[in-house]
Amino acid sequence: MDCVFCAIVAGDIPNATVHEDEDTLAFLDINPLRPGHALVIPKSHAQYFADLDDAAAAALTSSTRRVVRQLHATLGTTDATIAINDGPSAGQEVPHVHVHIVPRPDGDAPTPIHALFPDRPESDMSAITALAERIRTTAP
Ligand code: AMP
Repeated sequence: MDCVFCAIVAGDIPNATVHEDEDTLAFLDINPLRPGHALVIPKSHAQYFADLDDAAAAALTSSTRRVVRQLHATLGTTDATIAINDGPSAGQEVPHVHVHIVPRPDGDAPTPIHALFPDRPESDMSAITALAERIRTTAP
């Protein structure tokens, strides 16, 4: 399979590792959005977060929390944007699950993920409630 992150896991491409364990690898992004921008990946290939089994998802979450603490302790930050671009329509360029951790220094423009959606629909509580009912009654 032609996957750049699998190649990193295999040691075929160099990377700036910040944490590694049996199931996950975390390394600094080659095009950082802020200093310390890190990516946390499962070592086993999967494209979508929901493709991970519970153990792999738990390992990814645990490593992400650990790396967040490492970054804040190193950089003196307290805040971060933590995000997954989950599939190409969500902007995913590397089709191997990865959690972005972008430390947000004091005084950083506090852009939330909401800024990605300037053309959002009007809030409509009855539509929201009806959609919630459909989702709740749909098998995953
Ligand atoms: P995404 O758009 O969520 O798929 O983001 C992919 C990220 O991977 C981008 O932020 C890239 O800068 C980063 N990236 C791609 N190749 C490498 C690499 N070899 N080492 C580190 N980061 C990479």
